[in-house]
Amino acid sequence: MSFINGKKSPRQTILIADDSEMNRSILTDMLGDEYEIMEAENGVEAVSILQKYGNAISLLLLDIVMPEMDGFGVLNVMNKHRWIEDIPVIVISAETASTHVERAYELGVTEFISRPFDALILHRRVVNTILLYAKQKKLIDLVTDQIYEKEQQSGLMVDILSHIVEFRNGESGQHVLHIRTLTELLLKHLGHIDSKYQFPRSEISLICTASALHDIGKIAIPGEVLNKPGRLTDEEFEIMKKHTLIGAEMLKALPMHQEEPLVKKAYEICRWHHERYDGRGYPDGLKGEEIPVSAQVVALADVYDALTSERVYKKAFTHDVAIQMILEGKCGQFNPMLMECLREIESVLQEELQGDSDVRTSMRQMQNVAEELLHHEELSASERTLQLLEHERMKYRFYADMSEEIQFEYTVAPSMVTLSAYGARKLGLDEILMDPHNNEKVQEMMGTGTLRAISNELRGTTPEHPQVKYDHEVCINGEKRWMRTIGRAMWSADEPPRYMGAIGKTTDIHDERTRIDALVQMASHDSMTGLFNHNYAKERIRERLQNRPNGKFALAIFDLDHFKSANDNYGHMFGDKVLIHMAERLRRSIRGGDIAARVGGDEFLIFLEYKEEAETAIQRIFTSLEGTFEDFQISVSMGVVRTDMVGIDYDELFHAADQALYAVKRSGRGKYRFYDDSMYGMLSVISPIDGSEEKPADQTGERGML
Ligand code: GH3
Ligand code: MG
Repeated sequence: MSFINGKKSPRQTILIADDSEMNRSILTDMLGDEYEIMEAENGVEAVSILQKYGNAISLLLLDIVMPEMDGFGVLNVMNKHRWIEDIPVIVISAETASTHVERAYELGVTEFISRPFDALILHRRVVNTILLYAKQKKLIDLVTDQIYEKEQQSGLMVDILSHIVEFRNGESGQHVLHIRTLTELLLKHLGHIDSKYQFPRSEISLICTASALHDIGKIAIPGEVLNKPGRLTDEEFEIMKKHTLIGAEMLKALPMHQEEPLVKKAYEICRWHHERYDGRGYPDGLKGEEIPVSAQVVALADVYDALTSERVYKKAFTHDVAIQMILEGKCGQFNPMLMECLREIESVLQEELQGDSDVRTSMRQMQNVAEELLHHEELSASERTLQLLEHERMKYRFYADMSEEIQFEYTVAPSMVTLSAYGARKLGLDEILMDPHNNEKVQEMMGTGTLRAISNELRGTTPEHPQVKYDHEVCINGEKRWMRTIGRAMWSADEPPRYMGAIGKTTDIHDERTRIDALVQMASHDSMTGLFNHNYAKERIRERLQNRPNGKFALAIFDLDHFKSANDNYGHMFGDKVLIHMAERLRRSIRGGDIAARVGGDEFLIFLEYKEEAETAIQRIFTSLEGTFEDFQISVSMGVVRTDMVGIDYDELFHAADQALYAVKRSGRGKYRFYDDSMYGMLSVISPIDGSEEKPADQTGERGML
């Protein structure tokens, strides 16, 4: 199935590139009944169609001799952008000199058919080629899909781990990603230059993954050296150079996984990515081919990215300057073959790096691994998948152990937290915790408010922006410490997406400034429900009102009805659970940008901006707040005020909404009401202890809105 111009077309599409109109119409006649046909009169047109509709094209029938750009030109472009890997090409040409045929095959065409051709044979070849490619693609997609999900998680682990190093280095979060992409581009192209350097895709993928670890040794380099803005002294440089040996030592010291190819590759890269081809690098002064290719390639990628990025000690060079500096040997000598490789792919480098994203990289890597595995015909698809999963699990555990942080995975159904082995040890908890929100040990450590707040923050994300950061206190072995949790919510691919859980990590906060930030964050949340507290909400609301004095805003205050009976009948702990549950309901019923807070006790507030009618939004929220929690019937009374009623002074708004709330309590509860002047002064005659019994009779006689 293919898509052209957004329309779904049930047939596959063939692009015919030939300058002769007659040739095109002969082919169209032959194939037009079964396939969708697109035509190009010359090479340039063919390339522009491929660029626009490449995904939808199942086959290219290509003439060699054409004006503007000939068939070889088209093939060159297809190689450069790697379209040739996805779109099969059949060349049809009257030029049958063996040099032509050979060159076409070298550029990756599937078939070479000479003119004049036998119509039946051509037809057969077209059908076969399209079928073969479709089948391969389907298999690859199948395996890729199955492992993609796992890969995303372990990819995240690699990212988290390497980002710790980058963070300390003051490098951009893109560095590791760039190194990976550059390494992949270089390795792939190197194979084209010299068959000696032709590696299977699985090996390339391994080296790319391992490349992310090239600088892990910097973890042990003192911050003042690592982030020194000026030039390093000789002594400091000697310290800095040690990161290669330290990284290698860290890997060697791993109690497990010594035989894993990934660990071996990472070792090579860590230790030798500062060696130079002429033997003038460090730490071992290796020369020429003594340096493993993996380390040579990562070294070049590292230099290029360092030159083109801004660092504490330098500005970023442009791509052209960086390439020139490398080629002129200003950054040490590299393998001449690698230099040639760099020169040839120079123009694609920039493009690829700009389009870099985690998803694309890991998707592409997975596709490569999948393709490679599919070439081992003796394995059945499910065995391959299992092998891949096992590989992924191994990788995941390895990174988790290495990182020495408390990593966690949370699933909503069943409600369960899985901790990394290190995390479980550090906290003295089991690796698997069922129903964490009600786990006493966890509550003691984190406090229910923290757990709820993190949970609320994650739930409040979107699939596009799933990441949250939350600073808080954790009590480990009776000692309180500041920690930072970074989590990433997992959303399903359904429409609308479902919140399925999260993955993340919790680490100690060491520096003073972050600790102060954390204090501020703590002071702004209600410790039990994780909602904003009243003071903080007040500030935020005032700010919004001042910034947009003409906005359409509403403030609602609601209070649970007969909440005391929940406490009295089921105990205070149950009462707490009801309040936490309400906070969650509230959180889910408001939109992004609305502000929800716990005023105190069983009283909450909502500040929202509305478009047409405030009542529509209020009605929606009110309805979603009511229901049952276990045996307790949840009913709320709500008072609402709009800024066009009393102005934009927060205290006035709060007072008016409060009066409307009490009016509801007086007139039977379980409703919402907007403020009106008849309520003015009503609060003063109501006993603040218990508004229900000692109040004067309802003076307005009005019924609630619902
Ligand atoms: P009404 O319908 O008039 O609102 O009656 P009510 O029973 O809900 O009583 P009211 O709102 O006046 O009082 C709220 C009660 O909530 C008083 C207090 O015992 C209880 N409460 C306040 N804070 C907490 C808390 O953090 N946890 C629990 N479990 N109860 C709380
Ligand atoms: Mg109440």
